[in-house]
Order: sequence, then C-alpha cells, then structure tokens
Amino acid sequence: MVSPTQITASTCCYCGVGCGVLIEHDGEKILGVAGDPSHPANLGKLCSKGASLHLTGDLDARALYPELRLAKGLARTRTDWDSALDHAANVFAETIREHGPDSVAFYISGQLLTEDYYAFNKLARALVGTNNIDSNSRLCMSSAVVGYKRSLGADAPPCNYEDIEQSDCVLIAGSNMAYAHPVLFRRLEEAKAKRPQMKVIVIDPRRTDTCDLADLHLAILPGSDVALFHGILHILMWEGWIDRRYIDAHTEGFDALKSLVHAYNPQMVSELCGISVESLQQCAQLIGQAPSFLSLWCMGLNQSTAGSAKNSALINLHLATGQIGKVGSGPFSLTGQPNAMGGRETGSLSNLLPGHREAGNAEHRAEVAHYWGVDGLPESTGLTAIELFEAMRVGQIKALWIACTNPAQSLPDQNKVHEALAACPFVVVQEAFFTTETCHYADLLLPAASWGEKEGTVTNSERRISHVRRAMPAPAEARPDWAITTDFARRLEPLLRPGLPSLFAFDSPDALFEEYKHLTAKRDLDLSGLSYAILDHQGPQQWPFPAGATQGTARLYGDGQFPTANGRAKFQAEPFRAAKEKRETRYSLTLNTGRLRDQWHGMSRTGSAAQLFGHAPEALLSLHPDELRRRRLQSGDLLKVRSRRGSLIVPVVADESIRSGQAYMPMHWGNRFLKGLGTNVLTQPAFDPLSKQPELKHAGIEVEKVELPWSFFALVEGDVQSRFEALRPLFEAFAYANLTLTGRERPALLIRAACAVAPEAELLAQIDRLLGLNKGPVLAYDDPRKAVGKRVRIEDGRITAIRLAGETAARDWLKTLWNDGQADADLRRWLLAPVSTPPGSASSKTASKTLCNCLNVGEAAVCAGIARGLDLNGLKQELKCGTSCGSCVPEIKRLLAQQPVAVNA
Ligand code: SF4
Repeated sequence: MVSPTQITASTCCYCGVGCGVLIEHDGEKILGVAGDPSHPANLGKLCSKGASLHLTGDLDARALYPELRLAKGLARTRTDWDSALDHAANVFAETIREHGPDSVAFYISGQLLTEDYYAFNKLARALVGTNNIDSNSRLCMSSAVVGYKRSLGADAPPCNYEDIEQSDCVLIAGSNMAYAHPVLFRRLEEAKAKRPQMKVIVIDPRRTDTCDLADLHLAILPGSDVALFHGILHILMWEGWIDRRYIDAHTEGFDALKSLVHAYNPQMVSELCGISVESLQQCAQLIGQAPSFLSLWCMGLNQSTAGSAKNSALINLHLATGQIGKVGSGPFSLTGQPNAMGGRETGSLSNLLPGHREAGNAEHRAEVAHYWGVDGLPESTGLTAIELFEAMRVGQIKALWIACTNPAQSLPDQNKVHEALAACPFVVVQEAFFTTETCHYADLLLPAASWGEKEGTVTNSERRISHVRRAMPAPAEARPDWAITTDFARRLEPLLRPGLPSLFAFDSPDALFEEYKHLTAKRDLDLSGLSYAILDHQGPQQWPFPAGATQGTARLYGDGQFPTANGRAKFQAEPFRAAKEKRETRYSLTLNTGRLRDQWHGMSRTGSAAQLFGHAPEALLSLHPDELRRRRLQSGDLLKVRSRRGSLIVPVVADESIRSGQAYMPMHWGNRFLKGLGTNVLTQPAFDPLSKQPELKHAGIEVEKVELPWSFFALVEGDVQSRFEALRPLFEAFAYANLTLTGRERPALLIRAACAVAPEAELLAQIDRLLGLNKGPVLAYDDPRKAVGKRVRIEDGRITAIRLAGETAARDWLKTLWNDGQADADLRRWLLAPVSTPPGSASSKTASKTLCNCLNVGEAAVCAGIARGLDLNGLKQELKCGTSCGSCVPEIKRLLAQQPVAVNA
C-alpha cells in the first residue's frame, strides 16, 4: 500500500542562508521540495540548488554499507557495523598507545549538524586527548572568525537579514552573492526595487551577476582590499564623515589606525587597487553620507594570506562611522556552508572549544573539562587543515577520520593532498556519497545519512538556529553522523579509559543538544534557553537566547558595549600586504576561483543531478578576449594551465567579466569530473598567519595551447551513475577528459576527451561496450586510415547513444539533435558518409546552455525572444524564465543590455 504524502519542515543543506524547506515525501522517498513560507530566512523562496534538492542524491551514488580494506592495495569489501567500528576503535587505540594522541586527527565539515559537531569535539578532546580536530570551515570562514574576535571581541555577526533590506548603503565585498547566497540576494534585489534610493556597491575583481544590482562596481586588482578599505577610511576622515563621538565612547586604537591610513591617499590607493580616484571617492561618499551602512563579504576577503587584515580593515569602517548595532548597519559576514556557524559555536576548529572558547586558554580548558567530567583537556596546539594534511604527508598522522567533506577535491595543492591521503596508514571516511574523490582513499568507508534523513540543528549566517527534521530513514545501512560518532566513541572508551563511566551515553540528537547548550551559558552566544520544543513551537531563533528568554536576539551591540575586557571594540591597524604570488614572467596570469550558479562545493550531491549541469556543462578557464588575442588563442582551444604546484588541461573561453592579466576557474571541478585533480591542483596552500585560512583565490598561473588532434565525444542515456563509475577510470589514458551529466527527462552521461594520437583499439572497444555501442541497433562509420569513427544507437526512432572518435566537428549539432530526441534523415545520411561537419543549415546549430533551470529555458530561446523585442517582463510572460527562483534574472538582464543579440539557434 502506498503511504499518504506527508510534508516535513526542514532546512536546505547547501549554503549559509539557511532556507527553510518543506519536504514532500511518502515516508520512503522524497517526492518534491518547496520553500517554507514560515521560515524567516527565505519566506518561501528557494534558489535553483534548493529547488532541485529532491532531484539529487541518486541512490546509485550513495554509500550504503560499511566497507573495509584489510590491507593497502586491496579492494574494500562489505562488512557490518560492529566489525567496522570495532576495527576502527582497535586501530585508533593502538595508534594512540604507540604514537600518542596527536598521531590521530579528525577532519570534519561545515555541513554537519550541531549535534554531530559536538559529538566529534567531545570524542577528540575529552576521549582521545587531541586538539587535532579541524573542519573544512577553515577553508572558508576562519578569517571572518579572527576578524570578529579581535575587532569586536566575539565571533558574532551582529546583523540580521532584515538589516540587509533596511540598509541605505550595502557594500558587497569579495562575494558573488547572486550565485553563492541567492535567496538573500533576491531579498536585496526586492528591497532595492522598493527603495531605489538604496545604494549597492560591489567590490570584486570580476564583473559577476551580483554587479548587475550595483550602483558602483569597483573591479579592484585581486588582493588589494586592505589598501582599498584604508583608502576609503582616509577619505572618510578627510571629509569629516566619521563619528568621533562613537569612536571616543565605544572603541580603542583609533589613533594608531589614523596614523597608518594617513599614507593611503587616493592617488596611491587608486594605483594599488587599479581603480580611478573618482570611483574611490564616490565609494567613500556613498558610505560616508549614508544614514545606514551595511557590509557583506565572503570568500574574496577570507581566502587570502591577508584574510584577517581584510576582515578587520572592513570592520574598521563600521567602527569609525558608528555604523554598527543599529537598523540597516553593521559588518555581516556571509557564511559559506549551512552550519559553519554551528561548527564555530561548538568549537570545531582546532584552536576553539565549545561555547566560543579557546583551546589555548587554560581557564577555558578547565571549564570544559569540568563540565565533561574529565581530568583535563589537551594543551598541545591542534593542527589546522593545511598543517594537518602536510603532517600526514610526512608521516606524523597515522590515523585520520574524515566526515562529510572531500579534501581530495577541496584543499589547495591537490598533488600533495593526494600524496598525504595515500601515505596515511588508516583513513576512515564517513560519507553519504561513495563517489567523492576522497572515498578512493578510505580504508574504512562508513555510510552516513544525508539531507532529509537526519535530525539536529543548524545555525545560519544571521545566528538563527533551525530544527532540521528527518523526513525519512536513511537508505540501506547508512546512519546519522552523530550516531556513528558516538557508537565509535563508546567502543573506544574501554580501550582508552577502562572502568570509567561512558561520556557518550547519548541516544538521540536531542540529548546531545541538551548537554551542549549548557556549555554556552553566560557566554556571548548563550543559547542555554533553547530547546527542540521551543524551536518547534516558536520557529527558528537567533542567539543569544539565554535561559528564561522568550525570544532570540535580532541585533548585537546596540548599546555600544562589546564583549572585550574593557567593553570597547578595537580598531586594527595593519598595513596592506600584497598576495603571496605576484604576477611575473613565468606565471603571467593571476587565477581567481569561485562558484557556479547551480553547483555546490565538490559536487558530491549536485553532481548527481543531470539538470544542474545545464547552465555550465563543462569545466572552462576564463580569460579576457584581449588576453586571448594577445596570446593568439580562441575560445574552445585546449590549454595546459600550470602553476608552481601542478597542471591540468582545460578549454578556454573568452570572458569580458575579468580583466586582462587575470584568469578564472570555478572551484567545483575535481578529479571526478575533470582529469588532472581539478581546479585545486593549481591553487596554493599559503595561509593567513592568524586564521590559517589558505589563499585559494589567488595563484600565479601560465597557459599554453596544447595540440591534441585526436578528440572524442560521447553521449549516452540510462544507468548514468554506474556508467560514470565504469567509464571514468578509462579516461585516465587521455590527456584531457571532462565527464559530466546532461538532460532533464532523459539524464545522460556527456564525455569530452582528447589526446595526441588515437588510443589503443581495445580501449576504444571497451569504451564502446560500456556505452552500449558494441551491438544492437547501432549505426557505425569507421575510417581506420584516419583513425576516425562514428557510432549512433537509435531505438524506437530516438538517439540513445552517440560516440565520435578522432574528430568531433559535429559535436554541438549532435547535442542539439539529442535534445530534440529525434534521429532524422540528415543524421542517417551524415552518419554513413565520410564527412565530419554537420549537414547543410544544421552546421550553424550550436547547443544552447540552460539559462533558467527551474523552467528549462535555454539561452537561445531567451536571445530569440529579445530579438523579437521582448523585455524582461515579456520574456517572463512568454517563456516563464525567471519566474520561479529568479537565479537567472541577472543573466537575462545582461543579455537584454547587450542588444542587438546574436541568435545561435
Ligand atoms: Fe539552499 Fe539556495 Fe537557500 Fe542557500 S539560498 S540555503 S542554496 S535554497
């Protein structure tokens, strides 16, 4: 009997906006997803990623059973949970006995729930006795943590989402908010539409979709943010646009900063930043004369060797103008991951302890040890992400536990990261998707529950805690993260502290939350008055929410009192320091990395949904058209891109959104989808001295065209995930290979590859077998002399598989035919003829990318509509594009602004 459809209110598992979602399900399967109108973060809206959640998480990509590798070099085999966790406990205990507690480490994730984090922290610090527990939030948020703590006294974003809507001047620095925090960006767009006098300033080396909302875009040179902020402050002081009363009453350190920024005159700053003096002055004027001023920032400031300085230099502007603690004002860091905030709160960076405490503070250690009922907590400094993997590479870390993150894709300097994982004697990976690059190195793979299958809490960017509810059980033997962690801990306890009562007698996430929350009492984030019951009855709440409170706290520091020793905020005076790798002859381009609109991080979840590749179907390196001309390159050329650390081969595309001398590549591409260890094979591990956050957004690179005349193209529908797994290893033999998915109703595997000479016939035959092109209704043409061949499988008049080998001139035409689904007479004639180019008028057809993912509207249809004279409203009415999540609207506006447009199809 089919169960009735139910609705479970939960949250989206992607970005730090923390949208509420309503999961439609039948208790066994998720059927759909909608925005939760009652959730204060999104008020019913979702972006393209959130709205596609139910299409992701293909069971074929899920880890379903524990798997154990008995010795390096052997394949993993299925085992049961008892054997898996007993084995892990024995290996960890033996390693700790032999090499000490700091020979093991935990590397966890900003996507875990607060209860998962708490369990891991207690396990590492109280039971194992190591501070070697760090999180992938080190890669995205740790500079913001330092910025808040040293400037304001606590890691607490003071603003809320309504402040963004109510501000008179919003400065967005180093954030493509339109892609990275789309629902919040929609809220900002709507607020500006209602109050056009609101000013928006965007500071970004690239002209992103976010800039379409800007009154002023400053395309500064990468890494020059500190100089810019000091230059703005210089003008604010000169013009008398600072709030001297606020400075005197509530801050300290202004005089030192004043002396420093004296030198940052407009001329000097315009040269350092590569912008005009006029635009710098305009920026300062917009800030200085605004009744309220709010700043938003993300990775562009944080992922830098000067990340802490950039954060503090921006916060300086708020303190100097008194624009903090009041409506529409304040420095507002956008958190990248859904629960990076929860990680910071529970102490999930190696230098922290639960309740915003410091691992290096003896008093804090004593408080937590007392609460946990242990003699003490480790004093030794824990390793941060980059340090941890380097220590592992040189043999210091003998056992590593990774949960819900994919370091073999996301850390910089991937060659060394892969070396480190290969060198570690025992790697445990607790993961929902067995397909991630990191799972390849797992000696023990533990299947974890994923979105919709687990319960707990998360904190979003505005300090708002939501109850994440479970809609259905995890598949097969997958378990919630907190349950795996505490089960392991209970098996390890008798080996490390025999005879003592268990520290891990938790039977539910609620029990973990109840224990954790009291560790926050009387701290700046005090959430000791919260409970699951309150969250259920009153909805998501912002901390602080101390015992006895009836509601959360919307805004901090309204009274000008800061959580520092003397109650004053502290100006930080640090000079501008250039990024680590400067442009030079051997590495003449600066690589910037960032996000795609419809993908999330390493694509372990979004990469399982074909329609999320519609907007960006393949990995590309962007260069300005002038740079292409200067280097005699054309869009589509394959380039070898190399940095001081590694190289990969990728097609280039002309992109006017970046300046000459710069290059851009999305950070999502890893070794799974792009041969060559992905984007992060190029990026650098150099990190900020305080936050230890690496400079992922700034690497010196060089490019050269590569001639790979033998090209390959394939499209195949059916059994997409399993075909992907089987085919991907075969493409190691090619110099370039990009494997992604495509299609909506008919998900298909899309492969592009190239090499210098034709591969062995047996390899091609093997690929054909896996593509289903070795038998059945297959039309084939081969010219062995030229080493070219074509194969098309046609079933019931529909193309179900295509393969071109040797040359791929008809690639885009075939993609268009594929999308139409028809095998026409043109195709049959072309297929059986020794020509490569597509026939007649079809030769002009090129495949159009999907612009509107929600309503499946391609760029070609939008361009055709514009050519017919439609404006934005006309396009929305006729094509429906942009009428659902709105993520495509900035791009449609840009196409409208480019009239007359070229219509491709
Ligand atoms: Fe999810 Fe999009 Fe909301 Fe972020 S903005 S939480 S990705 S729906």
